[in-house]
Order: sequence, then structure tokens, then C-alpha cells
Amino acid sequence: MIPKRIEMPVQVEEILGKLREHGYEAFAVGGCVRDAILGRIPGDWDITTSAHPEEVKQVFGHTIDTGLQHGTVTVMRDHIGYEITTYRIDGEYEDGRHPKEVVFTAELREDLRRRDFTINAMAYSHETGIVDIFGGAEDLAARRIRCVGDAGERFTEDALRILRAVRFSAQLGFSIEKKTWQALCELAPSLVHVSKERVQVELTKTLLSDRPEFIWKTEAAGLAPYISKTFPEVFAAWKKQKSCAKQSLEEKICSKDVPAADKDAIKTETAAQQGHMFVKHECETDMAGEISAAAAHLPAEKALRWSYFLAPAGEETCVRVLRELKMDNDTIDKAKILSRFAFTQMEPEESAVRHAMSAMEDTVFDWLLLLQEVLMPERMDAVEMVRSLARQIRERGDCIRLKTLAVTGKDLIQAGIQPGPALGKTLHLLFEKVLENPAWNEKERLLAEVEVLKQSQNAGTSKA
Ligand code: ATP
Ligand code: MG
Repeated sequence: MIPKRIEMPVQVEEILGKLREHGYEAFAVGGCVRDAILGRIPGDWDITTSAHPEEVKQVFGHTIDTGLQHGTVTVMRDHIGYEITTYRIDGEYEDGRHPKEVVFTAELREDLRRRDFTINAMAYSHETGIVDIFGGAEDLAARRIRCVGDAGERFTEDALRILRAVRFSAQLGFSIEKKTWQALCELAPSLVHVSKERVQVELTKTLLSDRPEFIWKTEAAGLAPYISKTFPEVFAAWKKQKSCAKQSLEEKICSKDVPAADKDAIKTETAAQQGHMFVKHECETDMAGEISAAAAHLPAEKALRWSYFLAPAGEETCVRVLRELKMDNDTIDKAKILSRFAFTQMEPEESAVRHAMSAMEDTVFDWLLLLQEVLMPERMDAVEMVRSLARQIRERGDCIRLKTLAVTGKDLIQAGIQPGPALGKTLHLLFEKVLENPAWNEKERLLAEVEVLKQSQNAGTSKA
């Protein structure tokens, strides 16, 4: 199972070779070794060495001082940076990768000991093979996340590791080993000391993974109140939604008005839907809730995955959570729109579809339809009809943006509309007409309508 040899990029071989030629120890380390053993493509190759940063700089000549105080120097090869970090023993971490103070050490073992999980604490070189002091390979084979050493101590040193455990379990589909799980549940309150950006990054990685539903582990472990103030509301909304769905189903099944054959059909259909929507998770402790795995079918887009998770709590809560977690504004804007319309039952009718399309960018509209299919599987057919109408609307090039309206503000001023609020109002009235009926999007026709509007306004004012 554990390979004797790992294929590394030639650039990494060259860097390791050069350090060794100069008499230093050097290994690929951490995530890249883990991923290579798993047959995943490593995102980056980190290198650990006994050489001190000045020595690394001497060996390579051209280097970038990435984090000299943490012992990290970057070497560029073919436009890719390789971080070379001196063996070190860490103090408290401050940003997930870099502790506040570090002490260099001559021992690889000490460097591996400071790392978070056994699967992240292996090193490799062609000459030495895999260095696995803490049982990382065994945990990889057993598909579990386990802290190096005492879990309680490790989470106390750096509470971000709590969320890293959840994130890696989602990315790799691993369980969290019992003692590690117990310690992370116990130390949940220490998450408040972690910066919101770092929390957000880990949660985003969880949601973008192949198992976005593992975000429920934060609820199961009691982390939610320490993630952000509003975060628990999201789980409450999911639970409420689920119990409503169950209740309405029970009502249907118990109702005297529904024929027995239909009741059976409802039962079968619902079981099929729920099989798709909810999988019971064999979680490490008593995770009571059933969790939705459907989000894994959504494209791994930040705004989309987040709004899937947040939409049941409503637009306002969605925005509040994302602001609390210091999400970037572009993602917040998109998630705001998505959560606003997530449960809107759009009529499969052209003008309604054009209206909805006009409220958001094309990509966001396409995401919205995917989101609705996942959140309201019973509306799958209606959503598919909306999608097909949207395709036709795009193919025909119907006007769905103010900027493609056949008249501009300038045209309206020339037609005698006062600049200011009246102008904006008139433009929007015309745009509404065009959304209703795209054939209206001709300059003459719209200007004629402006005259009608002016007359009715005059009539209104003279009456007043
Ligand atoms: P990814 O695929 O997300 O890059 P990774 O394992 O490479 O996963 P990084 O955050 O890039 O994760 O960190 C590189 C290595 O540094 C980890 O494998 C781990 O050994 C160590 N490390 C990172 N953050 C921590 C931390 N907070 N505590 C202890 N060790 C850490
Ligand atoms: Mg990495």
C-alpha cells in the first residue's frame, strides 16, 4: 500500500539534490507526501531541510524571503515557487502556517512532531524513502484524521487545527479518530480566538470539497456558536425546514382525501428523493442530524456552495454570516442574490424568466437553477423548463439588461424627460415593458411610449 518511491517533479528532485550536495538533509514534506501516497495530485511541494535560511540562500543564490523569521525561503523554478523551510519547533501559530516564534532544530523528527495530523507529518526523499514516525501511513490506510501526539495539546496550541480536521476529513472522505474528535469537541470554545478570515478559509475549503455536507460536523462537534454569532441559526433553519418537509409528508400520507395508491407513490418518491438529498452520516460521535449530500452535485463555486448552505436561513442571515466571516464582497453579492431567489418558484413562462434573468448575471442565474434543483428536488421538471426558456431567450438575444435597451438616458432627455429621478423611473418603466415583450425593444416604439407616459403624467399633475 505504501509506495517505496514517490514520483516528484524534477524541480523538487533538483532542489533536494542541491541541498544534499551541500551536506544538508532535505525532504519533501507534509501535504505533498500525503497526496502523492493517496494518488492525488499535490497542490504544492513543500521542502524541509536542516539548512538554516541563510544557508539555503547561499546554496541557491536567487531566493525570495517568504518568511525568514519562520525559516521559510522560496526558490523559483519554471515560474513555480518552492518553499524551503528549516526544521523547526513551533510556538503558537498565528496564521495557520506560521507560528509567532520558532526555534530551529537539527532533527527532522522534531519538525514532524510540530505538524497537525499524522497524515500531514510524513517526509520523503528518494534516498531515505518515506519517513513516517507518527503512523501517518497507517492512518492514511485506515482513512482517518489523527493528531500528532496529544490532541488536546495540539488544538490548544492552535485552535485552527479544529477546523483543519473537519476540512481534511471533507476533502479526503476520512473519519476523525475518536480522541481527536473528543478533543476538538471539548476545545470548541477556543475557536473564538482564531481570526474570522482563517475560519472562513477552512469552511470554504470544506464546502468546496467533494463532501460539502461535512460542514455538518461543525454542528455535531458543537463548534457552530464559536464560528460566528449567527452561524448556529443556519443549522436551526435546516432542521426546521427538514421537520416541515417531514410533517407535510405525514399529513399527505395520513390524509383521508389522498387515495391509497397515491400515498404509496408519495412514499416511494420521497424515499428516492431523500436518498439523494440526505445521507445518514456514520459520524464519529452522536451526530444526530441527517445531512444533505446533494450539494456535492453543485459546481465547486464559492458563492454557490455557500448559498446552498446558507439559503434555508434566508437572505439576511446569509449575508450576516458571510460578513461575520469576512468573506469578499463579490462572493457576498452573489450569495445574496442566490439566497434571495433560492426558494422562489419561478413560473416556466418567458416574461417571468426574463425578469428573473434581469436581476442577476448570466452565470449566477445558471447557478440559481442548479441550486433550486438541489434545494427543491420536487421542482426539478419546472426548473428544467425554465432552463430551456432561458436558453431560448439568450439565443434570440432578448433584451434582459438595461444597457441593451433600445433607448438611453440621453434619448429620453432629448424627448423632454427631466434628468434626475424621473429619468430613472421612465427608463425602468420602459425596461419593464421590454421584459414583458421583447418586440418592444425598438427606439421608435419606446419613444412613442415615452409620449404616452408624459401625457398620462401631465393628466395626473393637472388633475392634482
Ligand atoms: P493543502 O492541500 O490544503 O495545501 P497541506 O497539508 O499542504 O494541504 P498546508 O496548509 O499547505 O496544508 O500546510 C502544509 C503543511 O504544514 C501541512 O501538511 C502540515 O504539515 C503543516 N501545517 C499547516 N498548518 C498547520 C497548523 N495549523 N498546525 C500544524 N501544522 C500545520
Ligand atoms: Mg499545501
